[in-house]
Amino acid sequence: MNKYLKQLVELNQYDKQLEKLIPIEENIKKPLTTLQNKVKNLTTKLEKLTDDIKNLVLKKSKNELLITELKEKLNQIAEKSSKVKTMKEAKALSLEEELAKEQIESANEEIAKFEKIVEEKKEEKEEIKKEIEQLESQIVITQAEIQDKIDALEKQKETIYKNKDELIKQMDSNIYKFYKKIKKWAGNSAVSPIKKQACMGCFMKINDKTYADAIKGEEIITCPHCGRVLYIENEETK
Ligand SMILES: [Zn+2]
Repeated sequence: MNKYLKQLVELNQYDKQLEKLIPIEENIKKPLTTLQNKVKNLTTKLEKLTDDIKNLVLKKSKNELLITELKEKLNQIAEKSSKVKTMKEAKALSLEEELAKEQIESANEEIAKFEKIVEEKKEEKEEIKKEIEQLESQIVITQAEIQDKIDALEKQKETIYKNKDELIKQMDSNIYKFYKKIKKWAGNSAVSPIKKQACMGCFMKINDKTYADAIKGEEIITCPHCGRVLYIENEETK
């Protein structure tokens, strides 16, 4: 096999090996990711509760302000009542007074209602905080449990990357660029074997001339249909 083609096949194999490690890594980290996602969701909930409480406190203070104003009004009514001259005036003031008192009462009811909800939300927050604490200690344990597997995987990755880098250093830069260009759209099938005279990238049958050239392996052959680099796997020639 042509030296450059051999390098391309090897480079592609490193990329495929790295790709295979992705789901393995995800699987190892899955118990950890599950716990971390739970914490994330609870943290969002916690933030929402904090916002809710802030809004409720604001509503409560608006009612308190209203009560202050209404009390001021009652004082004014009392002052006017002392100077009242007609029954009609007295009646009007008394109605005003009654209304203000009713408003104070309902504002107080609102305040009590908001306070109750705030208390409930605060309790809910405490529960969530406890839950997060528990999850966080579980995370520490899980992390320790999977550490060996992660270390082994990292070592594997490191070796592949090292081999890949060494190979790239030896490669002609134009050929490496050519590979990266195909890889952009073809991914790791950028270099595909021929099986039963068909490109295993696009699964189209290739013509006899290209097939014969590929078997010779003297130069880099690309699929006439899709443009992937083609090579003959050992079994094909046997
Ligand atoms: Zn093809």
